[in-house]
Amino acid sequence: MSGDLRKQLEAHAGLALIYEEAWAEIERAETTAGLEEARVKHLGRKSQLSSLLRSIPELPAAERPVVGKFGNQVRTVLEAALAERKKVLEAAELERRLSRESVDITLPGQPFPRGHLHLITQTLWQIEDFFSGLGYRIAEGPEVETDYYNFTALNTPEGHPARSLHDTFFVEGKPEVLLRTHTSPVQIRVMEKEDPPVYVIIPGRVYRRDSDATHTPMFHQVEGLAVDEHITMGDLKGTLEAFAKSMFGAEREIRLRPHYFPFTEPSVEVDVSCMICSGAGCRSCKYSGWLEILGAGMVDPNVFGFVGYEPDEVQGFAFGMGVERIAMLRHGMTDLRMFYDNDLRFIKQF
Ligand SMILES: [Zn+2]
Repeated sequence: MSGDLRKQLEAHAGLALIYEEAWAEIERAETTAGLEEARVKHLGRKSQLSSLLRSIPELPAAERPVVGKFGNQVRTVLEAALAERKKVLEAAELERRLSRESVDITLPGQPFPRGHLHLITQTLWQIEDFFSGLGYRIAEGPEVETDYYNFTALNTPEGHPARSLHDTFFVEGKPEVLLRTHTSPVQIRVMEKEDPPVYVIIPGRVYRRDSDATHTPMFHQVEGLAVDEHITMGDLKGTLEAFAKSMFGAEREIRLRPHYFPFTEPSVEVDVSCMICSGAGCRSCKYSGWLEILGAGMVDPNVFGFVGYEPDEVQGFAFGMGVERIAMLRHGMTDLRMFYDNDLRFIKQF
């Protein structure tokens, strides 16, 4: 405080008192909240200083200039002191909070929710595992295919009635490009590149224009292809029987029913003995004792013609299954769309 102000304050005892008291309280405040109380008390609208300044017109004429001038100076000095003290207290409070809230790295952390593989992936991997064990290699190919690989090279030329079975998704303006309706085109791609013997399985997504309780527009297939010398239908049956036992239980049996596919001759549909009633007949197997699991057959010699294999020298078999269907049978599911609803209550069960 300047000597001038002090001298003038001495000349006005009331003002001096107000000043001393306010100053002391500002200095004593230990928290910003306490400081705010001091501000309201000494500089607020109802403070002594404010009333004194408001009462100037009623003071004796000699006192008015002194109180007016130095009263306002007192207010300015106190306001500066308040601001200064506030800065100090805020810094101290921040310091205290930081030390209180510092992270204790010895405490256990928040567990991070951990997911698991989707049932489709689990099933796919189990199928892959089984066939890898038999010496099959995994082959993959494009999901956007050409008409040639999806149909023509699989013995399904334009106008062939089997094409109407595959009501597929075509690319607009490019009728020769489509989303593959099965993983079979990869069989062609593999045989074009490799000489026999060939033992591959082909997992992947396929697309068809179907949507109901047992069909979705996108689903997963695994196909298998074995091409070698002296391959017979007995090899096909033995392979698929071992597969059925591995997926559905050692006591399962399979049966082959004649069927038709353009790219195999002869063709069969393969049933597994019902795992619910063990073949006695129940609602799931429509009281037949059997459940269809896949389609298969001996590779049509015409298909070998497309890839440059000699039909007189090699034979082969092929099979294809829907991964969703296998998973549904294994787990007693009735609606295939549940796989893709992303309902955690369903997904967490597997
Ligand atoms: Zn049954």
